[in-house]
Amino acid sequence: MKQSIFCPICKLGDEEKVSYTSGEGSVTYKCARCGRFTITRTAEATAEDKNLSSKITAWIKEHNERGDDCPKITSDTLENVEKNIPDYSPMQKQLILLKNIERRSSYPGHTVVLTPKFDYPLSWAIGEEEFYYYVNSLVERGFLKRTDNYIIEEEKPSSLSVVITPKGWSYLDENSKKAVISDQVFVAMSFSPSLKSSWENGIRPAIIEAGYRPYRVDVEPHIDRIDAKIITEIKNSRFLVADVTEQKQGVYFEAGFALGLGIPVIWCVKKDDLDNVHFDTRQYNHIVWESDKDLRENLYYLICSVIGKY
Ligand SMILES: [Zn+2]
Repeated sequence: MKQSIFCPICKLGDEEKVSYTSGEGSVTYKCARCGRFTITRTAEATAEDKNLSSKITAWIKEHNERGDDCPKITSDTLENVEKNIPDYSPMQKQLILLKNIERRSSYPGHTVVLTPKFDYPLSWAIGEEEFYYYVNSLVERGFLKRTDNYIIEEEKPSSLSVVITPKGWSYLDENSKKAVISDQVFVAMSFSPSLKSSWENGIRPAIIEAGYRPYRVDVEPHIDRIDAKIITEIKNSRFLVADVTEQKQGVYFEAGFALGLGIPVIWCVKKDDLDNVHFDTRQYNHIVWESDKDLRENLYYLICSVIGKY
């Protein structure tokens, strides 16, 4: 007899919908509801015994939908997600759901098929019933249109097809900078080879660990040629990390631009360069770091306490 397989997170138990591969000290699951994730054996044992908050499933699914690296779940992750992710309001959940449908739309007018049993975490709902409620609300508000031949009596179909309306697209545009759906963090820093490791082993992992998506242009910005792309990406970011080590003008420009838009800026500088920090920005607290590890830990801590874990 085949042993049945359960997802340790959402408890979906269906041999065709849940599979896993064992690794050293951890297991990688593929669950139709959560998506792909790797979980340590310790966290798996903890998770199996209790009913986890639906936030964890939603958090894993979100990573999968965004096409991020396969999320790694440790016991700390379970605790952090539960503690640091706020309880979204019904309006925020509808916006998040609409955003997820946008992500699944290949083009405007594209019909997206949703399977409530597996897709309810797209709205950070606790279950299918709450999910139906948000889909219906979005339809009633005119942001979504059902494209299946649904029968009104059948309130809870096993799958439903929707398309984003023009009104829905403009609602997404108006709200594109809302904290709940923007997860981008603009990173302004020097591109010199001596700071390559600070980016790769300090700033980048700290931002990802806090649940955000770091964005860094891949060329050194010039003060006399700030291109439209940079301006747009700063505008689309939830906050900006400015590492002023090596005192590049472009970094100061980008940070100043963000401040002018009311976008939070987290300042960092390497200890041996602290004395050279531009006079006008000394009023702001800087993360003063000596090693990549320093930078990574302090930046992670500051993001979580100042901006909040995403
Ligand atoms: Zn699952």
